[in-house]
Formats: sequence, C-alpha cells, structure tokens
Amino acid sequence: MSDKPIPVTSPLLPPLEEFIPYLEEIWKSRILTNCGTMHQALEQALCEYLGVQHVALFANGTLALVAALQALRITGEVITTPYSFVATSHSLLWSGLEPVFVDIDSHTLNLDPAKVEAAITPRTTAIMPVHCYGNPCAVDAIQRIADTYGLRVIYDAAHAFGVKDEGGSILRHGDLSILSFHATKVFNTFEGGAVICPDEMTLQRINHLKNFGFADEVTVVMPGINGKMNEVSAAFGLLQLKHIDRALEQRRSIDRHYRELLAGVSGVCCLECGYQAFANHAYFPILVGEAFPLSRDELHHYLRDNGILVRRYFYPLISDFPMYHGRPSAKPANLPVARAVTEQVLCLPIYPGLGRQDVERIAGLISAASLMNTRTHREW
Ligand SMILES: *Cc1c(COP(=O)(O)O)cnc(C)c1O
Repeated sequence: MSDKPIPVTSPLLPPLEEFIPYLEEIWKSRILTNCGTMHQALEQALCEYLGVQHVALFANGTLALVAALQALRITGEVITTPYSFVATSHSLLWSGLEPVFVDIDSHTLNLDPAKVEAAITPRTTAIMPVHCYGNPCAVDAIQRIADTYGLRVIYDAAHAFGVKDEGGSILRHGDLSILSFHATKVFNTFEGGAVICPDEMTLQRINHLKNFGFADEVTVVMPGINGKMNEVSAAFGLLQLKHIDRALEQRRSIDRHYRELLAGVSGVCCLECGYQAFANHAYFPILVGEAFPLSRDELHHYLRDNGILVRRYFYPLISDFPMYHGRPSAKPANLPVARAVTEQVLCLPIYPGLGRQDVERIAGLISAASLMNTRTHREW
C-alpha cells in the first residue's frame, strides 16, 4: 500500500506568492466582477494564446454551453454523443431541446460522422459533438453534413484547451466552441468557461446573454442569465497562462512514459492521439480488453485498493441516466460502440507534478495485474 493516494487529476496551482500582486490590484480597484480589467485582459490573452477571433468568458462551462445554444437560437432536436460528461446533454435539456444520441467511432471515441445522417429528422437544427479527452472530432465530415442539411455545429471543447490540428486551433471549427476552466481541467480559473466565437455579431449576443440581456444601463434586449466570470477567477487565469506551456510539456512527458511502460502489457490498449499537430494530454484513458485477466471493474478496484484513484470516465453513458434512457436514440442497440467502450475504459492519473516514479508504480501495478491468471481472481 502507498502512503498517500494518487488522484486522477490535480489542479494547476502556481505558487501562492505569484497570485498576491493580482489580488492587490483587484483590492485597489474595488472592482470584483462585472467584466472588469482582469476579465477583459484574460479574454484578450486567451485570444492570443489560443489563436482564435473572440473569447467570451463565463462563470463555468455549462453556462457557456447553454448560452451558445441560445445565441444561435437552436430549436427542436440536437444530435450529440452519449460518451461525455453529463453537462453536454444537460445543456440541451436546460434549453428545452431534445438530445438525439448517435454512436461514437471506435478509434477517436468521438461522434461517428457515418452515423449522423440517419439520425437527422425535419426537427434537427444542430449537432453538438465533443472533442473527447481533447482528441479532435472528424471536423470536416461533420461540417459537410451540417452544410448539406443546414445544421449548426456547437463543439463541446471542454477537454480541448490548446489543442491544434494542421490548420491551427481546433476551436476554429463549427459555429461555436465552448471551453471549461473547472479546477479539474488542463487550464483552470477555479470555476470558469468560455464561448469561442468567430464573428462579432454573435459575440455581442453572447455578451448580452451572459449579463441578464443588458445592452446598456437601461436597455434589456433579451432574457439573459448571470454567466459572468468574476475578477479573481480571471486574474487566476492570467497567472495560469504563464505556467500553461510548462504544464502541457509535463503532461506530454507523462503520456509518453505511460505508453512506453504499457506497450508490452497485453490486454490493455492506450488510445491513439499521435495524429494531431498538438495534443494537450488532458486525460490518459486505457481500454481493458477481453485478453486482460481482470475485468475493467476489477482492475479499477485493484488500483483503488493500492491508492491509485483511477476513474471510469465515461461510465455510465449519458444515455443511461434516468432523464435520458427512455428516448429511442438512447437504446443500447443504437449505441453498440459507446456501450462496449464504457465497459472497458479507465482513466489513469495525469497532471503536472505527477512523478515519474508514480507513473512507474501505476504501470507496474497494471503490468502485475496482467499476469494474474483469471478474470474472477480476487485475492488482493
Ligand atoms: C467539464 C465538462 C463540462 C462542464 O464544464 P463546467 O465548467 O464544469 O461547467 C462540459 N462538458 C464536458 C465534456 C466536460 O468535461
């Protein structure tokens, strides 16, 4: 048994003394929120860092998703993936929309574009795919379908901070993308999120939506929500940007180390991510296959008993939660790939600050488990 449990993720937390000057500035200004100087500075800095046109900051990623749907006046049915964090589909229900689940591709674990067309009905107005684990969706194929049927595309890019493909930021695809800056994500502002937007008109709508619909002091143009990010969170984001490249490098090296150590372990498979120009290594998912002597749940149990707090992201499927499972598209027969993957996936710890020895111990435990001789062996 280890001394201290190893979590699956841990927030990027720069030295406290580096944050003090930001707090002093906020105290001096006496402006704590309402899109003050920190908020404006972070929007500008993120546009530059991410290489995108416009960023609208939010109090969290879920509000950003809801605002994105409303900004584009999405109605009726929206095609989405069952293999994600539950906020993806919840944002549809909060907007009075009908989620329609389509199965995922077995390599990317993202929405399978080959299965999207069959799910389109006269009520379909949009597609909401997820760049799961930060791995890019089949953006060209999805756009082709959207163009053919006149659909909008809103990417849930909550996992995809800093991810690029050959042409630049992955966030430039579709009509809008949203990010989450929750403490568990690659880049965090304690709680936070953003809508990434290519045009000024839509940006203006989004900015009204996140501030009660106020266009100026006396004019309310829509029933907006309070979705603004506060100044302390924005300041923390500015500080974090100074450390993000180093953090991404550390994630990259942990990813590489796991792959080397697990390459010879039969029955476990690491998800590919090498085909893109720049990955962010937000997660390290493995699939525990039939050839492995333990089931996924047994391996989960075994690692947790050894102080490794691995997580089953994403299990259960969103489509299995009670508010979704009655829908025809949520039926198991409609989602065979997602169903198989959700029973096999396990996310291993990955975060800046996770030591090489910890990675070796985790891989060593998995390797030892691979030598146990039966699936029902439970002697630990
Ligand atoms: C984290 C996450 C969200 C929600 O973001 P919050 O900032 O926690 O509201 C949405 N979608 C996905 C895929 C996520 O992982």
